[in-house]
Amino acid sequence: METKEISKKGLRIWRALQVLLFILGIGFLTLMLNDSLRFIPSLPESFGRDAFWNVLIFAAPLLFAVAPGVWRNICPMGTTSLFARYLGISKAKQQDQKQQGIFYLISVILLYVLVPLRHVETSGLSVVIALVGVGVLALILGYLYQGKSGWCSGLCPVFPVEKLYGSKPLVTVPNTHCSTCVNCISPCADSTDNITPSSNQESAISRFASFIFVGGFPGFVWGWFNVADFPTRMEGWANLDEVYGLPMLGFSITLFAYWILRRLFEEKDYTKVALVFAAAAISCYYWYRIPSILGLTDASGVFGLDLSEFTSLKLILRIISTLFFFWWIVLRNTIKSWEYRPKFEELKTA
Ligand code: SF4
Repeated sequence: METKEISKKGLRIWRALQVLLFILGIGFLTLMLNDSLRFIPSLPESFGRDAFWNVLIFAAPLLFAVAPGVWRNICPMGTTSLFARYLGISKAKQQDQKQQGIFYLISVILLYVLVPLRHVETSGLSVVIALVGVGVLALILGYLYQGKSGWCSGLCPVFPVEKLYGSKPLVTVPNTHCSTCVNCISPCADSTDNITPSSNQESAISRFASFIFVGGFPGFVWGWFNVADFPTRMEGWANLDEVYGLPMLGFSITLFAYWILRRLFEEKDYTKVALVFAAAAISCYYWYRIPSILGLTDASGVFGLDLSEFTSLKLILRIISTLFFFWWIVLRNTIKSWEYRPKFEELKTA
């Protein structure tokens, strides 16, 4: 693990990117609000939601796999959570391993509970309310806890996904949120080479959280894509068994397979098994998302694309993306962390 300080010029560029992403984030919120409130009537009705789901959410897993450190530096929610640290007003409570495990488990449960609700609460206004609520929670946790341990490496439900897909990043970038390292969390996901969701084995809660996440997530993703959106919110809330049924069925099947494999293989091979499950989950995501974005399924794609007659292209793209992620995550050999660890605080003040 390398320690590296960022240059002043480099820091200025990252700060500009953080501001830009923050403005873009507010832009996305405004567009989604417009979907429901129609203060810019000339825009199509689902413009904001489509931009959010088909641009940001489409690209996010790929970014986590290739350059998770970049996302960790510029995520607007992460920046929000660290306002208190930047202002020097954070209470900076330290967490022990058990508390870290509890936060990890809650983040995994939040992910499993919240993601299926996307099929229910489809309006732009619902997404805005959810995101603003999450932003307030991130702000509070950043105020209470030290460094990134409250939100970015704590309760953020995206954090387990970053660890799952981001074990073998292409690049290591400076850590622009931590001017010095205060050892807020151990192991630090940003600074540990080839971090995985199972890297923290210190507490039983962490081990359990990583087990249900790595094992269950591929099946959960499959199940999620096989549930249709409900036409109205009321119908969705009245059919929560359907909303959660298939994702939980998929979760149970792959979790059982993961449990069997861990019994068949020796402990030294557990990481390899986990990487196969990571590749399966992200491949499954793009198996469905790439054709739908390009209009290769029966629905029209983004920008009005309709390529549904090219059925063999759909299969070719699916095979290519699956092969790519298995190579990227399972087969490729690289030793890298997401970000360079900054100098430790005590070294700087000594
Ligand atoms: S670099 Fe240090 S302060 Fe920053 S997240 Fe990692 S452990 Fe916490």
